[in-house]
Amino acid sequence: ANISPFVNEPFVNFGLEENKQAMEKAISKVKSELGQNIPLHIGERKVFTEDVITSVNPGNLDEVIGYVSKANQALAEEAMHIAVNTFETWKKVSASERAEYLFKAAALMRERKHEFSALMILESGKNYAEADADTAEAIDFIEFYAREMLRLEQINETQPLTKVQGEDNRLTYIPLGVGVVIPPWNFPLAICVGMTTAAVVSGNTVLLKPASTTPVIAHKFVALMEEVGLPAGVINFIPGSGAEVGDYLTSHPKTRFISFTGSKEVGLHISKLAANTSEGQIWIKRLIAEMGGKDGIVVDETAGLDAAAQAIVASAFGFQGQKCSAGSRAIIVEAVYDEVVEKVKELTEKLVVGSPELNYPAGPVIDKGSYDKILGYIEIGKAEGTLLTGGSPAVGNGYYIEPTVFADVNPDARIMKEEIFGPVLAICKAADYKEAIHIYNDTEFGLTGSYFSSDQKRIEEALETMHCGNLYINRKCTGALVGAHPFGGFNMSGTDSKAGGYDYLLLFTQAKLTSRKL
Ligand code: GLU
Repeated sequence: ANISPFVNEPFVNFGLEENKQAMEKAISKVKSELGQNIPLHIGERKVFTEDVITSVNPGNLDEVIGYVSKANQALAEEAMHIAVNTFETWKKVSASERAEYLFKAAALMRERKHEFSALMILESGKNYAEADADTAEAIDFIEFYAREMLRLEQINETQPLTKVQGEDNRLTYIPLGVGVVIPPWNFPLAICVGMTTAAVVSGNTVLLKPASTTPVIAHKFVALMEEVGLPAGVINFIPGSGAEVGDYLTSHPKTRFISFTGSKEVGLHISKLAANTSEGQIWIKRLIAEMGGKDGIVVDETAGLDAAAQAIVASAFGFQGQKCSAGSRAIIVEAVYDEVVEKVKELTEKLVVGSPELNYPAGPVIDKGSYDKILGYIEIGKAEGTLLTGGSPAVGNGYYIEPTVFADVNPDARIMKEEIFGPVLAICKAADYKEAIHIYNDTEFGLTGSYFSSDQKRIEEALETMHCGNLYINRKCTGALVGAHPFGGFNMSGTDSKAGGYDYLLLFTQAKLTSRKL
């Protein structure tokens, strides 16, 4: 087949009236369909349970997005059986056929992109641009991994092994088995889709346990894969509690790998569980984990200060700071400190808080647990720095918090060290760029970072010494593009994987060497 090279899905410009109206129309359509009962998908079986997860709009607590059936251990066990059996047939399906399901899914998602985005606006509290970027990234992941599987198949046929006379030697990447996929709620479509499609296009079958705050959008993706004819049992949809279903499946002897994106705490818990071997288990489980960040932007005195301030605000407050890539620290050298701080304050105060469906720049955080935790950190911040702006809950029938900036924060302060995952920015002063980079690196995480400067030598130094998986120069530290900016970090940010990169599919395979005597 003739497959065009991968290109990123363009973002929609909602400054244009027609695009804004198209999204409003999609929101109305999605609203007219809210509140449905959503089943588990266990092979061909659709299972409705009495016990449900009620998914609520975090920006309007009276609006129920859907009632999602909830797996227990018995249902999870049934799904595991199906996934184990389906693996035996799915692994034999050709790479091109597996990729074809993905290409079809990407085309359909593109046709309906506003509908996917609208559902995210309501279920996760994203504004139009953030939701649109999420859907675009989901489409990108599908298109990218489909092509990557085709490339991997080529590599399987042409792997350049050292020639040995009288032998036909080949190295082939084959699938692993059944994977448990545990995506996060903050990119409730993109990351869910990326993790799942990477695993299945590589020939594995999965048990997909969506985030409990965003299961309806995850189900919309699962339904799409069913619509394009993906065989039943390849993706099994089993929402449920982490403690009950997540732990059970992570510990299951038939689980071959776990692909997780979420907090450091949960990631480490999964890592521990996965390290134990259960009765009947014949492998060491592979864990692919993407965890937190305490990302930062360093600004030196040669930087474009307006651009730096804009990037600081965009990185700190995009989707209310609920990104593992969020720039929750800004480290600014003394000579330009006051000026940049003033600019950051001004720009932050322009972020009006309000309902996502009305496309306010700042919306709600995801749930009550996050809301309480973030407000707790804001109280800690009041003792650790100078409150510049924000600092309180914001009005609205949801989990609204004012975008909050603390200045003059000590490098050792908790709000400089701990991931808050909310709209809270800590700003710290450094004597010079060397000290600023040192402060930047003084973290257990290592996901994203930015350096703002116009000095080429310092930029070279920053490129070499700032230790993170995604390092950006003179731009914001969020918004990695599939294919262009393979994404994933170091240290406590995860297992050093790169989503949207050219080695990602290898994580879902194992290499088999065959040597045939001629
Ligand atoms: N890939 C996203 C970005 O570059 C962040 C993903 C995450 O927060 O998990 O902004």
